[in-house]
Amino acid sequence: MDTVLLSDKETDLEIAAEFIKKGEIVGIPTETVYGLGADASNEAAVRKVFEAKGRPADNPLIVHLADFSQAADYTASIPELAYRLAERFCPGPLTMVLPKNERIPMITSGGLDTVGIRVPSHPVMHRIIEISGRPIAAPSANTSGYPSPTSAEHVMRDMNGKISAVVDGGSSEFGVESTVISFEGDNSVRILRPGCVTREMLLEICDEVIIDRAILHELEAGQKAASPGMKYKHYSPKADIIMVEGSLESFITYVGEHGGNDVYSLIFDNDRDKFPYRYMTYGKDSSQQAHFLFQRLRELDEIGAERVYVRAPEKDGVGLAVYNRLIRAAGFEVIRI
Ligand code: AMP
Ligand code: MG
Repeated sequence: MDTVLLSDKETDLEIAAEFIKKGEIVGIPTETVYGLGADASNEAAVRKVFEAKGRPADNPLIVHLADFSQAADYTASIPELAYRLAERFCPGPLTMVLPKNERIPMITSGGLDTVGIRVPSHPVMHRIIEISGRPIAAPSANTSGYPSPTSAEHVMRDMNGKISAVVDGGSSEFGVESTVISFEGDNSVRILRPGCVTREMLLEICDEVIIDRAILHELEAGQKAASPGMKYKHYSPKADIIMVEGSLESFITYVGEHGGNDVYSLIFDNDRDKFPYRYMTYGKDSSQQAHFLFQRLRELDEIGAERVYVRAPEKDGVGLAVYNRLIRAAGFEVIRI
């Protein structure tokens, strides 16, 4: 199959929407990462998404809608708290897990009786949902297990020949996937996957925000994941990633004793002047680190890096999302010094 590269002009978005309506798959930019879009209500189309990604069938897809008012069309019930959260965070990088109705096929929800609903703010994704008139299932547009794509070029590299088209909408603003939450009580939610809608932001609306244990810890044998994506090795480049937690001074000593210039280090912008070995930087604060992380992991593969020491990010605010992706990219290999 030839994969067409489309622009973000209206006539190209009409072509993209036409592919979606015909049950084809299109790479679509969103404000988080690029998504692999398909009609969420079309089983055959959704099957193609799982095939193109090589994604395990029990890993559910998020359904993207143009407006939160449409959530009632695809869910069995919506708590009052969800409407209050939608008012504050939709459109944007927040996914709410709700009981699904029969309009969402089981293949889309990975066999669960719930569905993740998101209203993306990116004008291209928003417009394609609007023109197609379909709910769009869109997992990250990477090969399963590999770092998520934050540019049309990344999508092409993973999906060329496997999908009908990719829409180029520039680089993704946030750079990490949406925050996924489930509802616990009248005024309480659980974060299943951290993103750029942070715990601190959710606490402006909710009384209680629980951080699911699987966000920072490896599942133990036999344990069930509330968020199925959390159980797989994920976001991993070919290079061996090792996260190192500690001060810059101790990081420098550690790298010096474990390869120095024979390995690569991924450090903060502000470390640059003091760091004596070869490195790449991934931003000066958590938001920038989120924006650059996946791009850097892909670049490290391109230059043939085999072993990479990464300075661990903060665990609060957006940092929790960055830490969560890195700990999985590292296969839970963390050195604390
Ligand atoms: P991705 O499509 O790559 O952004 O991954 C979506 C992730 O959202 C999945 O791997 C799950 O961890 C989570 N998710 C989606 N739908 C549900 C659901 N119904 N229940 C729990 N987690 C979900
Ligand atoms: Mg993904």
